[in-house]
Amino acid sequence: MKSIRKPLIAGNWKMHMTVSEGRDFLEALESKLSGQTGADVALFPPFTALYPLRTVARTVRLGAQNMYAEVKGAFTGEISAPMLKEITDLVLIGHSERRHVFKESDDLLNRKVKRALEFGLQPVLCVGETLDERESGATMERIGAQVTAGLNGIEKAAAQKIIVAYEPVWAIGTGRTATPEQAQEVHAAIRGMLAGRVADPQGILILYGGSVKPENSADLLSRPDIDGALVGGASLRVEPFSAIIHNATQPNPA
Ligand code: PEP
Repeated sequence: MKSIRKPLIAGNWKMHMTVSEGRDFLEALESKLSGQTGADVALFPPFTALYPLRTVARTVRLGAQNMYAEVKGAFTGEISAPMLKEITDLVLIGHSERRHVFKESDDLLNRKVKRALEFGLQPVLCVGETLDERESGATMERIGAQVTAGLNGIEKAAAQKIIVAYEPVWAIGTGRTATPEQAQEVHAAIRGMLAGRVADPQGILILYGGSVKPENSADLLSRPDIDGALVGGASLRVEPFSAIIHNATQPNPA
């Protein structure tokens, strides 16, 4: 079934890259990717670089790292779905740092997912358990709660447009990666949780994120329910990021 899902390798730059740094990076990446068709590639630059990088992006899709759930109003510092829709069609919702550093709740994230879909943005809904939750055996319960809350009240046909990113909190930026077996187990469970919530779970991309590097990406990406990667640290340099993209385009060794 994986063959119906083209892999997506996405880089989350977080609060890194000025406009000029981003432009240099993207020009170099685009020239490396010329002719690349085996995997889709996306980058999530900071808001300041998102608009100017559009003139450089040819094969790379650009997306926003966050948005607010309201359409407009007195929300200083926030950016809305209609503002984003003029410049992109992809947005991260509920990245671990939004959940844990900025204390965004499942309810707020559900409102963001709904608003993104309402304005024609494709949400990448990020879910993941903490180390405590994993060690206490609560991983599936926590992921199930995040998936259920994130898609609450959304019609199956509309929900079919989402991408899910599984990012164990304990693996993000720590150098500690989930084993391919651990990641595959959760990805398969997430696909099961999507049954009844989306039109066709087999058509949904589920990305893995958490210290993905060139050295571990081939094994992770060969697993049947791992449809791509959301890459933080290794997306800040062209060489490792393009190596991960290359690994996603190799024939499945499994
Ligand atoms: C992320 O920011 O989504 C991420 C997975 O970061 P890292 O690859 O650095 O762990």
